[in-house]
Amino acid sequence: MSSQDRPPASSRQDEYRILPEGDLREYLARLPAIAEHLGGAPEVWSISEVGDGNLNLVFIVKGAEGGVAVKQALPYVRLVGESWPLPLSRSHYEYLALTHQARLAPGLVPSVLHHNEALALVVMELIEPHIIMRKGLIAGALYPSFVGDIATFLARTLFFSSDLAIPAAQKKEGIAAFAGNHALCKITEDLVFTDPYRVAEQNRWTQPWLDATAAAFREDLDLHAAISRLKLKFLNAPEALIHGDLHTGSIMVTEGSTVVIDPEFAFYGPMGFDLGAVIGNLLMSYLASAGHEGSPGERRLFEVWVLETIENVWTEFAHEFLELWRTEAHGDAYPPTLFPGEAGVKRLEAERRAYMARLFQDTVGFSAAKIIRRILGLAHNIDFELIEDPKRRAISEARSLRLARAMMVDAASFRGIGAVTKAAQEVRDWQPDFG
Ligand code: ADP
Ligand code: MG
Repeated sequence: MSSQDRPPASSRQDEYRILPEGDLREYLARLPAIAEHLGGAPEVWSISEVGDGNLNLVFIVKGAEGGVAVKQALPYVRLVGESWPLPLSRSHYEYLALTHQARLAPGLVPSVLHHNEALALVVMELIEPHIIMRKGLIAGALYPSFVGDIATFLARTLFFSSDLAIPAAQKKEGIAAFAGNHALCKITEDLVFTDPYRVAEQNRWTQPWLDATAAAFREDLDLHAAISRLKLKFLNAPEALIHGDLHTGSIMVTEGSTVVIDPEFAFYGPMGFDLGAVIGNLLMSYLASAGHEGSPGERRLFEVWVLETIENVWTEFAHEFLELWRTEAHGDAYPPTLFPGEAGVKRLEAERRAYMARLFQDTVGFSAAKIIRRILGLAHNIDFELIEDPKRRAISEARSLRLARAMMVDAASFRGIGAVTKAAQEVRDWQPDFG
């Protein structure tokens, strides 16, 4: 087709279509700022599809000068196919979340260079030479700057979108802006909070070793009550703008830098869900590690580092969050006039401590929920999946399930993050009896 035959870009942009590579090249070439950023002739830009995620298309485009990542939503779940439709609007929410997070936690998310609502497409900064953190962890790599970065990301994005930081009207506008993302929330409500605990067609687990545990979890009313409490919290606690899918596959890292990607599940929900995603996924990394060792003890240093990291993520998060609360509390919660004088200051500090203790309990529960869904539900983790020998994989998974059950049912018995890492260490040495 010659360029004369072609309708002008603007009219074609208003209609959704999946952009194959050739069309994407042409589309980007027509965006002056992007074309300049990429540099050189569009014909020689390299374009490769890298989407290893479950839902969308992601292209890496590189020109003579620079690169971009282009993410386009499909009208269905990529992992499953057209039989599972999913609204394109998730791209709008991802865009909204990315730009919001960029303001709250500068440098910790990719910057958005272009967004086309109709095409459900976001062009963003290419994050390189980073890799997906989960892959690095499987290889046994340590990430010294991760704790500081993720603690800052969590503290700032959660605090500054909460009633502690912003006036009620602004907070409610925020809730409204994300309320339409309910189809993505529903995925979580089903796949994390419901299906792993009942017979569901899409569930799977490492058979036959985990058959008995999967069956026991489907009968375990203590567990069902605990996961239902967490589900209710997820449904009705718009505490802050949460990322909504903050596992180690949504974090890109080098030794010195951390970038959080993929916030398409973002909405106003419970803070503990994001914290639990990070900590639950680190716990899985720790317990999967034994399955990746060539000889016993080979990955000890790595495992010690993961446990320290789990402790430091919580501790540094709590420290930063509390510091923000002491210095940047401009929200309608806890009016300062109600806490006058020295006694007031003291009482407010006690309230802050109580708040963090409650948030910690949520975090423990949500961590456990994240672990269980990855072992008994639809979407599994390569941390476990790449353990080739299924029995060895099942051992790591059984340990994780044992820990997760205790964390979910007896969350209150975990008084601090040290209790969580201690329990993880103990379960690391537990040998499941597969009968
Ligand atoms: P999905 O929503 O389908 O899970 P992701 O946003 O997780 O898609 O992206 C899928 C993959 O694309 C990521 O695992 C990562 O490898 C790559 N990717 C996504 N965004 C970027 C980016 N800004 N820079 C570099 N790579 C990216
Ligand atoms: Mg993803």
